[in-house]
Amino acid sequence: MCGIFGIANHSDPARMAYLGLYALQHRGQESTGMSSSDGNQVYTHKAMGYVADVYDEDVFAKLKGSNAIGHTRYSTAGESSEGNAQPIVVKCTYGTVALVHNGNLINAVGLREELERQGAIFQSTSDSEVILHLLARSQTHDLLDALAETLAKVQGAFSLLLLTEDALIGVRDPNGFRPLSIGKVNGSYVLASETCAFDLIGATYLREVEPGEIVHIRGEELRSVKALHAPRLAKCIFEHVYFSRPDSIVFGRTVQTSRDLMGRILAEESPVDADLVVPIPDSGVSAAIGYSQKSGIPFAFGLIRNHYVGRTFIEPKTTIRHFGVKVKLNPIKELLTGKRVILIDDSIVRGTTSRKIVKMVRAAGAKEVHMRISCPPTLSPCFYGIDTPTKKELIASSHTVPEICKYIEADSLAYLSLPGLIRAVGGKGNEFCTACYTGQYPLDFADIGPDAKAEDRQLDLWEASLKE
Ligand code: AMP
Repeated sequence: MCGIFGIANHSDPARMAYLGLYALQHRGQESTGMSSSDGNQVYTHKAMGYVADVYDEDVFAKLKGSNAIGHTRYSTAGESSEGNAQPIVVKCTYGTVALVHNGNLINAVGLREELERQGAIFQSTSDSEVILHLLARSQTHDLLDALAETLAKVQGAFSLLLLTEDALIGVRDPNGFRPLSIGKVNGSYVLASETCAFDLIGATYLREVEPGEIVHIRGEELRSVKALHAPRLAKCIFEHVYFSRPDSIVFGRTVQTSRDLMGRILAEESPVDADLVVPIPDSGVSAAIGYSQKSGIPFAFGLIRNHYVGRTFIEPKTTIRHFGVKVKLNPIKELLTGKRVILIDDSIVRGTTSRKIVKMVRAAGAKEVHMRISCPPTLSPCFYGIDTPTKKELIASSHTVPEICKYIEADSLAYLSLPGLIRAVGGKGNEFCTACYTGQYPLDFADIGPDAKAEDRQLDLWEASLKE
């Protein structure tokens, strides 16, 4: 995952991008970078670390001009290193082009091999760089034509922002996997992964970039081209389950509305006689409120989160992740002692977090611990930009719900059904990608031969790209 932000025609674009990225920090904490342009040149700064730590007055002084794009990264393809931080900047026949990417390309491995055979020299291991190499090779005269030609060759999830010396371009892949929205603040168009970035800078949300649309912004003018086509939509349902902030409008719907409904439907589908509904903060909070309101069982913050610990899951080292649960959460004994507790979280991935939390809540004196999860069991890894472990590590890929319940040592465990989840996000099922719950991938892996066993081959390629 990643957060992307862009602004055109502003007197202080780098500082606006800084605020935008600040609001998108939850989408990636490994590295951040920004490019700005002033009509003649593109200026770039990028580094490992948090948005708040990477930029300062000296950096803003360097990022001159009236347009800017920015990125917060957490890696799904390519390693976590400064070399893979974005924007990626190249000089080519279309001038200087800076690119930021949210999503994951599924045919990047094959395209890269082919480009390397033709002599291309890559600066990074990031899949996003393939786009710039293809773009630079296009024979068309116009950048937008070159972009449309390039993007017809790549497959997978891509919400992109490109910055040239004098323009900002936004693109969303034709399946619409990842979000990208358009806003406006005074005379400046802004583009962002989530609308919470608009709220911070006082921008008004206008609409989403449509799947397959390219928007070209120069000065005050926005031009739109519907350049890419796909047989179906595949909006990532996990954006509503976990990834996006609840105060964002994603795919045209406020995430909080979806999460509240997930909790309510979960209460309808899987009720349990108990004294207290306790969220696992922060990911379980919105659904727990919905569950409590629907069931009439009181809600309480029985677990307190230390907000200075990053998302533990994102830490690449397993040792740190295991250690993370205790560092991050602390139970309030007085609230939990003698109570039958319903714990609500958004998802179980490997099961290690839930197991530790159930233990912790029991040790704090809870009489019963019932776990409720506001999405279906996570069965299959994501190839479109969510950082999920390999299939083997996903507990639900090889264990039944009763077996998982036993592993996490809960008194009962239930997940939201897939129809329940689709109802909660207010959509038609076939508009969403639900591959993590069904194993049915909306895009075939382009790198697979016709007779390879599709899913196994996908997993091999994915695991190989992670090891890069
Ligand atoms: P686990 O211990 O592997 O079962 O992790 C479960 C926790 O990870 C839940 O609290 C989720 O909120 C969180 N989580 C689920 N998916 C992701 C993801 N892709 N990135 C970061 N955290 C996640």
